[in-house]
Amino acid sequence: MSRGILVIGAGPAGLAATEAALDAGARVTLVDGADLTGGQYWRHPPAERGDAREARGHHGWTRYLALHERVEGDPRCDVRLGAQVWAIEPDPVSPCGLAVHLATGRVDAVGARMERLRPDALVLATGAHDRTLPFPGWQLPGVFTGGAAQALAKGERVRVGDRVVIAGAGPFLLPVAVSVAGTGARVLAVAEASAVGRIARGWSARPWRLLRTASKAGELLGYVGAFLRHRIPYRTGTVVIAAHGTDRVEAVTLARLDADWRPRPGTERRIAVDAVCVTHDFTPRLELAIAAGCTVDTRRFVVVDDRQETTVPGVYAAGEITGIGGVDLALAEGAIAGAAAAGAEPDRAAVRRRAAFTGFAARIPAAHGIRPGWRDWLDDDTLVCRCEEVGVGRLRATAAETDGAGLRSLKLTTRAGLGACQGRVCGRTVEELLLDASGADRFPDLAGTDRRPIAVPQRLGDLAAIVREADDREQADLEPHDPPETSGKDT
Ligand SMILES: Cc1cc2nc3c(=O)[nH]c(=O)nc-3n(C[C@H](O)[C@H](O)[C@H](O)COP(=O)(O)OP(=O)(O)OC[C@H]3O[C@@H](n4cnc5c(N)ncnc54)[C@H](O)[C@@H]3O)c2cc1C
Repeated sequence: MSRGILVIGAGPAGLAATEAALDAGARVTLVDGADLTGGQYWRHPPAERGDAREARGHHGWTRYLALHERVEGDPRCDVRLGAQVWAIEPDPVSPCGLAVHLATGRVDAVGARMERLRPDALVLATGAHDRTLPFPGWQLPGVFTGGAAQALAKGERVRVGDRVVIAGAGPFLLPVAVSVAGTGARVLAVAEASAVGRIARGWSARPWRLLRTASKAGELLGYVGAFLRHRIPYRTGTVVIAAHGTDRVEAVTLARLDADWRPRPGTERRIAVDAVCVTHDFTPRLELAIAAGCTVDTRRFVVVDDRQETTVPGVYAAGEITGIGGVDLALAEGAIAGAAAAGAEPDRAAVRRRAAFTGFAARIPAAHGIRPGWRDWLDDDTLVCRCEEVGVGRLRATAAETDGAGLRSLKLTTRAGLGACQGRVCGRTVEELLLDASGADRFPDLAGTDRRPIAVPQRLGDLAAIVREADDREQADLEPHDPPETSGKDT
């Protein structure tokens, strides 16, 4: 009997893992909470709202179509979309030692189909969220994360505003600006926080190694062309330090930064906008890996070995949850993880590509990584946790007053990170500000904000249905059974 692999996440890493596991003869169940495959990179509208020119808006669209057709067309592959993995827990009966809880149905609709899967091996490819540092006014309507603006542009063809500023750090700002401009918005500026010298040093170290990732140069040229076509100004060493407005954003203040991202006094410039999109970094989606018992390193990525196996035997990880590296690295890691999970030797070309793109990925934090000076653009009233409306002043005061308290107590006291998003947006920032205020480098309870035993909220009725069904099964087992009927036929 071939191995049954469960792949969670149908982005580039999960699709590549599924293809490799199928190639190795395994049966695969591929699940994703979204309604379409493709993940963040190949996000697109459904076919009925699609555009014949879809390929123009994506890099590697042909590769996506080939992966999509492969996984959808293989009878050994069961693709489940609109299927959220909401919990993972130890299960001695499961071949991989874990039970994976799945809820399938329309988001927020009643009556999700609840299932428990027990695969032979598991591949986690759950990707990342974008991380936005807080600034005064970031709670106003019209302030988007770059990822949200990108998802609306690519998945819905929605324009977030007419006059838009894109800000933050990293190469991700380039596709966001091009997608937003592609919806007809006027992009007034792309403000990159890192200074030009740091960007140049980060990207030009050991330049010969860039030859191994030459496809990225083509991608960059594509963005340069689009910036020229849409007349988008690109400002380095500059960032949005405040958003202004009463009912929604009406203007932003841009300021020049020093090398540590401290605003330089006297460089502030106010621009009228009706939308601003801000992303400073990415945060991996770790809750399922943590629930599965996988070790996470000090940089907060899932630890894997050469075969992408985590510290939990039978559990593999690929893509942004093992390190932020972009689509090519996600594809290579996925291909290695899928083959290994199916018990096969990973493809050598994928191993070479992983090495090349790991080196490429290391340039991103060197050139664009968050610097500590961002704290200088906060004031006491700046909200950190937007869900629970907790400001910087309150966080700092509580940490100082309750010297030595663990993160759990600090969260319960301030409510920061306990709102609807469960700290996905503010978690890292809450941790950093609390640690600053208490002068420690970690919390006494060694807690972090990535642990979410319920990874995706579920309706109480759907959870109750699981318990009812289990009770019914138990009751049926207790009742005396009639002897099986003998029909004389083989069954
Ligand atoms: C919002 C956003 C937009 C991005 N857009 C771009 C871009 O335009 N260009 C670019 O170069 N890079 C972009 N990136 C970076 C991009 O994430 C990577 O380059 C690439 O998509 C990583 O592939 P992946 O397979 O690791 O993750 P992803 O593509 O993020 O795929 C992860 C998949 O896992 C699914 N998932 C996660 N948790 C669960 C769960 N509990 N249950 C079920 N399914 C789950 C998600 O729905 C998602 O489809 C973006 C990142 C983000 C966060």
